[in-house]
Amino acid sequence: MDRHHRAMAMRPHVLVVGGTDSSGGAGVTRDVATLAAFGVAACPAITAVTAQTHCDVRHVEAVSADLILQQMAAASEENPIRAIKIGMLGHSEAIRAVVSFLEDHRDIPAVLDPVLVSSSGGRLTDEAAIDDLGNRLMPLCSLATPNLPELACLLGEPEAKCASEAERQGGALLRQGCRAVLVKGGHAGGDVAIDMLFRRDSERIAFSASRLNGSLRGTGCMLASAIAAGLASGESLESSIRSAKAYVFDRIAEVATG
Ligand code: PLP
Repeated sequence: MDRHHRAMAMRPHVLVVGGTDSSGGAGVTRDVATLAAFGVAACPAITAVTAQTHCDVRHVEAVSADLILQQMAAASEENPIRAIKIGMLGHSEAIRAVVSFLEDHRDIPAVLDPVLVSSSGGRLTDEAAIDDLGNRLMPLCSLATPNLPELACLLGEPEAKCASEAERQGGALLRQGCRAVLVKGGHAGGDVAIDMLFRRDSERIAFSASRLNGSLRGTGCMLASAIAAGLASGESLESSIRSAKAYVFDRIAEVATG
């Protein structure tokens, strides 16, 4: 092994499980770029190939459950996987493949961004798979990072219209089996965007940032990947979330209009 390969092998690795986005706005390309910014290596396990523009999801083709599992197994044989970031899964077979991998690797922290619909409105996860996402996969994850529409959808309830309702829903999702839930407040109103972290046996923590007037796709992918980067580097969950939020804030600030 030469010096370059030795240095690569020593870096913490994150297994990135998710879909491609040909527009470059979201999905696995965003994840890999985010992890690189944190000095963390990425091993991709692709679950779906999508043809997208920023305004439209044109076509989605699912990768077979067997190939998803084979990608995850090969990645972990070859590299020291310190965290797993899970994004678009698309359908129940993909979810079950990831569940079976996580059941065999319970010591690796997994961050789940429960991707359901793109910001352009295109569906990225079958409606029939939402139960498996919430009931089978979430309990095996260290953290789920739903936004308000995703939170409501996972609970089968209408979207929260105020902070107290979002808090109640965050607590309800935690009781459904996840170890921690970060409810993202980006879809709420107000000058301050507040994300709420719910954990078992701990007080909830609010992470606030001023709301920027900029729109950027893939911020959910970035946040979850940046959190996974922190966990892969041995940081605590709270500190990983703080660094991740600062990173995403800076990326939105670059495109903000004032
Ligand atoms: N496409 C893929 C493959 C994704 O993983 C995601 C989000 O994770 C999206 C699209 C949606 O991104 P956005 O909500 O920024 O449109």
